[in-house]
Amino acid sequence: MERPDCPHCGSSWVNKAREVKNKYVTKQGYKCPECGRFFVERDGFEGKTYPKEVIVEALHLYVEGLSLSKIRTHLKQHRGYSPSDGSILNWVREYSELLERFEQEQMEDPEIGRKIHLDEVVVKVGKKSTTR
Ligand SMILES: [Zn+2]
Repeated sequence: MERPDCPHCGSSWVNKAREVKNKYVTKQGYKCPECGRFFVERDGFEGKTYPKEVIVEALHLYVEGLSLSKIRTHLKQHRGYSPSDGSILNWVREYSELLERFEQEQMEDPEIGRKIHLDEVVVKVGKKSTTR
């Protein structure tokens, strides 16, 4: 993965630093020699307990019209994760604008692979909103 710019001072000369781990996810940390601050790679999912793939999949299933309990069952069976209804609802709320945009694009171009595309949209918008 290419190195991000420092979100604090905009310097592109950042060094790899320690990784940041939670229960499920490891993210690459960086240290900026310009301003001396530490930050984590920005992918639109920073600070989330669950991996990006799991969140994207949950949103994908939500768009498909599955109930929360079915989404939970699916994630448990296919991914081995058991997020709560509250977590899933939080993701839906947080990424609902993206979901709408995604559905519009989906209608314009049904050939696009859903999951991969949604993932890209989230990453793109996530970067835009976190690098200022
Ligand atoms: Zn900096």
